[in-house]
Amino acid sequence: MDVTTALPSHTTEEVRALLEPLGSSLLHELGHGLGGPYHVLFPRRFDANAASFRAAFTAAGVDGRVYYAKKANKASVFVERAAGAGLGVDVASHGELREALAAGVRGTDLVITGPAKDDHLLRVSVLHGALIAVDALDELDRVLALARELGRTAQVVLRLLPPGQPHSRFGLDETETATALGRCRTEHVDMAGFSFHLSGYDIQERADLAARAVRLCAHARTLGLRADRVSVGGGFAVDYVGADDWRRFHESTRPEHFHRRKTFPGYYPYHSPVAGADALAALLASTPADETSSLADLVRRAGVTLLVEPGRALLDQAGCSVFRVQGVKERDGYDILTVDGSSLSLSEQWFESEFLPDPVVVPADRADLADAGPYPACVGAATCLESDLLTWRKIPFPVRPATGDLLVYLNTAGYQMDSNESPFHELPLPPKVVVEPPAHDSPSVRPHWRLDRHP
Ligand SMILES: *Cc1c(COP(=O)(O)O)cnc(C)c1O
Repeated sequence: MDVTTALPSHTTEEVRALLEPLGSSLLHELGHGLGGPYHVLFPRRFDANAASFRAAFTAAGVDGRVYYAKKANKASVFVERAAGAGLGVDVASHGELREALAAGVRGTDLVITGPAKDDHLLRVSVLHGALIAVDALDELDRVLALARELGRTAQVVLRLLPPGQPHSRFGLDETETATALGRCRTEHVDMAGFSFHLSGYDIQERADLAARAVRLCAHARTLGLRADRVSVGGGFAVDYVGADDWRRFHESTRPEHFHRRKTFPGYYPYHSPVAGADALAALLASTPADETSSLADLVRRAGVTLLVEPGRALLDQAGCSVFRVQGVKERDGYDILTVDGSSLSLSEQWFESEFLPDPVVVPADRADLADAGPYPACVGAATCLESDLLTWRKIPFPVRPATGDLLVYLNTAGYQMDSNESPFHELPLPPKVVVEPPAHDSPSVRPHWRLDRHP
């Protein structure tokens, strides 16, 4: 039978160690102990990703700050690491703010994003001296009223509506920005600068808008405002699979490679030639439209601090999701696997799309491992919904998965694992297990694990 191209996920040494026999005994043990699917988190990888972002600023000679966009994962451990490393955190709700503060992030290290923030969130943000990204004129008025009432100074940046995305529901257009600047000339607000967040990964579009924000800072200063910060938001790509595999996938994919010939309107760009901190470096090195020098030069000359708010990119390779095969049924020349969780733990499935990198089979201790693959199989959930599949694509597994094997979806920490989880069917929410290397003086060679502190 004609099968789909393999789309193996990139891995790290830490991930490979878990998939090899010694580590995989830990995976099976955890599955047994926790009694259901679970997510694994690698905080050391988060630290390394954050360090790369900082290094990109240093290498370009730019004063920059990294804010971790908390919405990308609910775990406590990443905000704890952000606090320890002195990163800022981007929060968009009172719940996220509470989590960040409890993890040790100081209020002055928070940036508050999201549209029409509620009064409770705004009030606590003003009291903490957090940087509020103001999204609309009426929101600015509420911030000013709250600051006046509290006798405090609100720290704000004005969020810009991207000219290239004029139908976005976020940000202030040109007229609103001019009005907002006028209203910021009061003692109750410290207008720190401008922010934006673009959907998509286009580097030039970011550079152009960043330069525009830098020019706006110069204008705002003529009005007596501080205006020395520009936040370029998040949207740093993650590279999940190799270029050749990604190309082959697009060239060869046909509806019959999917269960029920399912088709999707589009896919996330799982291969990105320039990703993560390299995308920041490329942004800093690029020359914005209407300028003659690099963004790094412009920012430096203007005395502006550049803020970034990566979510997904800081979580690259910082986690994976583990399911147990609960049943296997053969159908028309391929297998339908049923695992012990649901597609709510793989959020891409809820955006009319599919998380494409191949999950890895970690076989149970069994003798019948045949290796004359590929063995195509799709992956269904343990629910009563016809449409609840973790993977519609008939993945070409190198060994034939069997009941009791584990299926590990790699690189899921950024948005995949818990954005959409709910206890549907009274299935328990998969717990999160923090995995770190053993201490230096430990005789153990196995990694250490503990549960994440997030409830
Ligand atoms: C979601 C979001 C981010 C993070 O985006 P990533 O694509 O995960 O980097 C940053 N800033 C704002 C305002 C956001 O809404």
